[in-house]
Amino acid sequence: MSGPPGAAGPAAAPASRICLCLTGASLEQDAALLRRERRWVDLVELRADFLAPAELAHLARFPALVDLPVILTLRRAEDGGRCAEADRRRLLREALAGAGPGGAGYAFVELEHDFSDPELEGAARARGCRVIRSFYDLHGVPAGLAARVRRLARRAGERGELAKAEVRVRGSRDQRRLAEAFRDLRGVEKILLGLGEYGSFSRILAGKLGSWLACCSPACAEGEPEVATEGQTDPRVLTELYRFRSIGPETAVYGVVGNPVAHSRSPHLHNPGFTALGLDAVYVPFLADELPEFLRTARALGIRGLSVTVPFKEQALRLARSAEDEARAVGAANTLLAGTAGGRGGWRAANTDVAGFLAPLQRQAPALLEPGAGAVVLGAGGAARAVVYALTRQGLKVLVLNRTPARARALARRFGCQWGGLEAREAARLGGGPALIVQTTSVGLGGAGDPLPEYAFRAGQVVYDLVYGSGPTPFLARALAAGCRTVDGLAMLQAQAEAQFRLFTGSEPPGGGLGRG
Ligand code: NAP
Repeated sequence: MSGPPGAAGPAAAPASRICLCLTGASLEQDAALLRRERRWVDLVELRADFLAPAELAHLARFPALVDLPVILTLRRAEDGGRCAEADRRRLLREALAGAGPGGAGYAFVELEHDFSDPELEGAARARGCRVIRSFYDLHGVPAGLAARVRRLARRAGERGELAKAEVRVRGSRDQRRLAEAFRDLRGVEKILLGLGEYGSFSRILAGKLGSWLACCSPACAEGEPEVATEGQTDPRVLTELYRFRSIGPETAVYGVVGNPVAHSRSPHLHNPGFTALGLDAVYVPFLADELPEFLRTARALGIRGLSVTVPFKEQALRLARSAEDEARAVGAANTLLAGTAGGRGGWRAANTDVAGFLAPLQRQAPALLEPGAGAVVLGAGGAARAVVYALTRQGLKVLVLNRTPARARALARRFGCQWGGLEAREAARLGGGPALIVQTTSVGLGGAGDPLPEYAFRAGQVVYDLVYGSGPTPFLARALAAGCRTVDGLAMLQAQAEAQFRLFTGSEPPGGGLGRG
């Protein structure tokens, strides 16, 4: 078993840098965006191929408008940019030749691996402007990526240039290739970035993985074109939530794997917990489409522990080398712990959903958990398994109702309870209206939908909805209006995350618990 993460050390030279990607139609728009985001970023990339044609005559002035190093990029159409090749050489030459007021010039210029213009490159060098030598693969992560980047970096190094590769990450197979390339390129100076949400880990973890910079775009900048924002992370989020500048080669990596995963609150619970305890650790969301492939990625990245969410919980248990009794009894795991860093000794499965589900009820309505009490559970998916296991273990009589009755039957048989379809008349079967109703279907996610719209709540019932969002789900809102006591999914999320935090770090969560500050 790998040890808990170490304490964060004193600040050293940056392991990576946050680069704001500017894609405005005018230089003034770009400068204004930088002024807004200035405190979160270390340098900027001017995507001059996004500028209106009239602006291009003034390219040389831009470095003087901003107080950070600027990368000049005029990306070609074949690399996902908008600049015609015929114009590029002239524009680049003019931009590099004429320094703006005060002599400020571009700190970097991006030129492609197959581009050659000795005069232009010489002019850049003469002005102290470093060439970033790039290649793009917008179709996926190519096999042999590490070898290709290594060759590029060797040639770039001989000329004082910096190598850059940007590749589209289309799924878990590409993720693994990218993670293995990072592993194989340890110690090589380069910029290596994965495009898209599957590749977002490469930006958050740039300091650990050894990418010289990570590109970012503000989350809600109006009019940001898709090509510039694809899977990019907001600079403030990188800084404040992920503590980008304190991430280095030794930082312990944890995360949540699922599909979808972008909405997950878990990074907002674990990362502040690490910060409060002064741990050199980070918690990252990982979108995946195949769990076995993703676990290879996790091994290449040296991930120490994972939260597992929809749709991988049952498969996570099957793929683990060992499992705690509770995970085995539930038939699903929401936690994987690396036997040694990155799961080389196999993964150990645990399930903190059971403890997480029970904790709010034990605090708020312990009488409902007396043996012999009745409860209705809506849904028969992965979350329902943990709920039904928890309730039947307490000795409750449980009725499982699900849209697909066969799944309700299978779950009910496993835990010795009753079952039915997802219908209001079924919910009355426990007699007098059940004291506890637990909603575990995914209906209500995103604030819309009610899994049992025709069911009339009775005042005094306790209604627990596992779905969480920015406010009560429509189901919970109806229950509240009918005078029920309600528990929302956030309470369970926090409690299960606290149990995970103990497993990950061996430490108690700070203060009053995760996300309770
Ligand atoms: P899952 O395994 O995919 O199961 C989904 C369940 O929702 C199934 O019972 C499914 O019924 C039902 N369902 C889906 N769409 C439906 C619809 N339109 N009408 C009626 N029923 C529908 O997912 P899960 O892991 O159980 O997770 C379910 C929800 O619980 C998710 O929203 C998840 O975020 C939440 N959750 C919260 C926590 C927490 O800590 N608060 C923990 C775990 C899960 P069928 O069988 O008929 O498809």
